[in-house]
Amino acid sequence: MSESHSSNTFIELVKQLAHLDQSPDTTPAPTPVASELTTTLLVGDFESRCGNCDKPTLVHEVDRHTDVSGWEEEPGAGCGARFTTIASASRNVTAADLRQLRPDLPIRDH
Ligand SMILES: [Zn+2]
Repeated sequence: MSESHSSNTFIELVKQLAHLDQSPDTTPAPTPVASELTTTLLVGDFESRCGNCDKPTLVHEVDRHTDVSGWEEEPGAGCGARFTTIASASRNVTAADLRQLRPDLPIRDH
């Protein structure tokens, strides 16, 4: 059992693996999406709330809960969660209303 081939094949394997690692590494590492905080935009009769921190939020043209809206506005006081779905917090707010408000967000199933 003194095959000199075994070491050669091992070298070949290492070379192949090294070759595989030679991918064009020009793109920066993508930001981890899994750790991002996402939540639901809850639309009620008189105001909308963030599904994560339950504070008022703007409805139109906001991707994230950056500002707390309402009677006492607090710009920048939002929790920063990204709205990935929209849902009704009132029986008076229909799916059609939600669709009209934010056609870009899918409606969360109850
Ligand atoms: Zn929030």
